[in-house]
This record gives sequence, C-alpha cells and structure tokens, in this order.
Amino acid sequence: MKNSKLYIENSLSRKKELFVPITPGFVGMYVCGPTVYSDVHLGNCRTFVSFDIMYRYLLHLGYSVRYVRNITDVGHLLDDGEDRMSKGAKADNLEPMEVAQKYSNGFHDMMRIFNALPPSIEPRATGHIIEQIEMVEAIIANGYGYESNGSVYFDTIAYSKDHNYGELSGRVIEELLVESRDNLKHQSEKKHPSDFAIWMKADDNHLMKWNSPWSVGFPGWHLECSAMSTKYLGKKFDFHGGGNDLKFPHHENEIAQNMGSCGCTPANYWVHTNMLLMNGRKMSKSDGNTITPDQLFTGNSPHVTKGYTPMVVKFFMLQCHYNSTLDLTDAGLAAAEKGYTKLFEAYKVLQDMETKSSANTGDEAINALLDQAFEDMNDDFNTPRALSRLFELVTIINKMKDGTEDINAVSSETLSRLKADMKALLFDVFGLQDPVSVHGDSTIDGLMDLVVDLRANAREQKDWTVSDKIRDQLSALNIVIKDGKEGTSWTVNS
Ligand code: AMP
Ligand code: ZN
Repeated sequence: MKNSKLYIENSLSRKKELFVPITPGFVGMYVCGPTVYSDVHLGNCRTFVSFDIMYRYLLHLGYSVRYVRNITDVGHLLDDGEDRMSKGAKADNLEPMEVAQKYSNGFHDMMRIFNALPPSIEPRATGHIIEQIEMVEAIIANGYGYESNGSVYFDTIAYSKDHNYGELSGRVIEELLVESRDNLKHQSEKKHPSDFAIWMKADDNHLMKWNSPWSVGFPGWHLECSAMSTKYLGKKFDFHGGGNDLKFPHHENEIAQNMGSCGCTPANYWVHTNMLLMNGRKMSKSDGNTITPDQLFTGNSPHVTKGYTPMVVKFFMLQCHYNSTLDLTDAGLAAAEKGYTKLFEAYKVLQDMETKSSANTGDEAINALLDQAFEDMNDDFNTPRALSRLFELVTIINKMKDGTEDINAVSSETLSRLKADMKALLFDVFGLQDPVSVHGDSTIDGLMDLVVDLRANAREQKDWTVSDKIRDQLSALNIVIKDGKEGTSWTVNS
C-alpha cells in the first residue's frame, strides 16, 4: 500500500476531502453504466474514461478495488414515458434483449478501443428484478412508499419529514414539480409531483414486464442502481460515480431509496464528471452538433479536418480535469496529437538512456517533478497538471538527448526512477498505449526499411508521384514518416 493521501472532491459535502475507505486497503466503487438502447457516444466515453483513470489510480495506490458498473437495460424512460429499450427494439425490429446485447457489445468494444479496464462486476438491471422488488417492499414497510393503481411511488413528502431530500443536488422539495424523468401521464397517481416511481404498472403493449405484488410491470430506473450497488457492495460503500447530469434526479433518488430502505446513504464519496461539448455547445443529435467515435477516428465528419486515433482522443480528454467541461474542437485535437507524439517520442528516447555517473546534481529537478505528478493525481485525480509535469520532464529528457544538459549529472538511481514512474503513469494510470509499439517486430521493421528505401530512391530521382504516394498511403495506415538530419524515421500513431 503506497503511503499517499488522496483527496477527492465529494459532491455530497461539496468539499475536497481526504479519501479514507471504510475498510483499510479495500475500496467499493459503483459507477452508473450506460443505457444500452443506442450507440455509445463520445460524451459517455469521456465519463467512463474518467472513472477508468480513477479506478486505475486506486489500483496503483495498492487498494483492492471492487468496481461495479451496471448495464441499464430496463426502466430508463424517455420524456414521453416510453422505455428506451422498447423504443430501440421497435426501431430496429429486435427483441429488447437483442437491443441490450447489441449495444452492450458496442459499448465493450469502445471501452477496449479506449483501453479502459473492465469492471469487476457488470450487473444488468433485468437480472436483478427480485432484489428491486424486495427494496420496494422495504421502502413501503418503512412508510416511504405507496401503491397507486398498480404502480408504487416513493413518498418524497413523508421522506423529507425524516431526512433531507435534495441533500446531493441542493434542490428544494417545494420547487420540484415535473422535473423527474418518470412518466408524465401518471402524475395524477402521485400524492405530490416530486414523488417518483419505484415500480411501474406496464401497459398491455409494453415489451419488458415482470410479475410483482402490485402489478405486472417494471422497476424504476433509479431503483436498479440502489438494488445492485447494495447487493454487490453492501449498504454502505466508498465511492459512487456518474456524469453530473445524473446528480438529479437519478442520484438524489438513489440516496432517498437507500436511506428509505436500509437507513443509510449508500456511498461516502460521490464523484461527478462534467460534460463533453463540441465547438462550445452541448453535443446534440437534433441540431447536428454531434460526432460519433468512428467519425472522429476516420475523419469522416465536417467537424474535423482529419481522423484522430483513439489514444489521441483519450490523451485530449486527459488534458482536461474531469470536473470541468471539455470542448471538443479540431484545433484542440490537433494540438493533443502533437503533444501525445512528443511525449511518447521522449519516453522512447528515455528507454535507451544510460548513465554511469555517481554525480547527482541533476536529480533534484527530476525527483521534484515526479513527486509533483503524483501529488497532482492525489489532488482529486488532476490529470492535466500531472501531464504538465511530464512535459517538463520531456524537456529535460530532450536536453539530455541533444547534450544541452548533462546526462552524467543524473544518478542511475534517479534515471531508473524516471523510467519506472513515467511507465507507471503513462501505461498503468492513464492507460495510454505506445504509438510505436510495432517497432521491434522484425518483419515490420524489415518491411518498413524497404519502403523507406524505395521512397528515398524515388526522391533522389525526383519521382514525386511515387514518393508522395508512399507517404500518403502510409499516412492512411497511421504511419508517419519523418525526414531528419540523421535520415528518415517512422512512427505509428496507435
Ligand atoms: P446514459 O447512457 O445516458 O445513462 O449515460 C451514461 C453516462 O454517460 C452517464 O454517467 C452520463 O452522465 C454520461 N454522459 C452523458 N452525456 C454526456 C456528455 N455529453 N459528456 C459526458 N458524460 C456524459
Ligand atoms: Zn445509476
């Protein structure tokens, strides 16, 4: 276990707090997963990449982490009251379970592309109907739920007499009219407009429904996360995350349900990620201000001048703190691409560096920057600041390479630490991948030597058609050719 003090911005207390897990050495972490009724979008990717970095950092610190991230495959309704899964099923002419499988597969593919680690447990809401019914029963038994026409509602007025409804979001109950995401046409069944459904009676044409003590119906969206987090992490666990658009009503209602059924708030630390924008505006399908991950990777969109690899997109995300909005722009991505390439080029140079010296006048600056990079991560997972320390180290590495700084002023101990810590941050914590990882494969190296030779010959003979064709076709494969003083080199942007 590393002896570090991690501070986390806790949305519940609205303060940055020292992270102290309930059981020393162990962390229970729950993150709201995707609603699998359509392709995952880049905003979702940003949120799940952010939580992946937090998970990875907790692992790096030496914690045993149980990371639970659910799949929402029922109960998340649209504003008109239709279940998102049913809508997806009707649109694609599929079984709801086929829809869930199709888009879960797509989500998993995207997480692999962004090199995000899989969670320890990935429960599906439809696999936990019994647990959800039991929770509804407990809420009713405690006097915080009532049945109305076969549906069951959470009684926010009864609850707020004993507890603070609105604690997380800062909402005041009197102002809560029709903001909750449940079905408007059922408002008359509620005692108060801010009450929300925990069990919904299904219409005859509803596709996904189960027997229950109250009706043939389906659970409320908020309830599933309460039931699944309790089942796998216990009544009280350490960390609960989601995008900040989930703070209200989803997370507020989760807290009320847990409190109303088990008597305690589920998580000690609530962490919310901020939204991804595009060109300064919320990404939205209706006004065309949207880009799919595939369009971004291939460049097949009017919003970008070229394609950007998944690792460049991920690096771009890491250059912004998870707590701030991130504006996706072509210029920002192009700058991230340069930075990412520069960082990994320096990392590669570092691997071949050696020092025989016992001198250590160069040690202080390097050790200080490495310490600061980890302090940045301890300060609410501040990836942009940690990256800026790595760029200061890149400057030092490049100076040692070109001789403006003396490599022999650095002790071998510090050089080993630099190699190990950079590796840990880039690969283990940030989950980035080396753009030049195919270097070292003798077949590819041999083929590339041949291609580079053929291009050099074409250039000598001023055959620009052939030399440009080689460069462009390599570029389409993400292989970048660079002509320098010492000859031609190549890199692969992964
Ligand atoms: P959903 O599939 O709609 O339930 O969303 C899955 C996760 O993605 C939730 O944590 C959302 O808060 C998050 N999310 C949705 N839109 C965005 C966005 N534009 N930027 C960042 N996160 C988002
Ligand atoms: Zn949730």
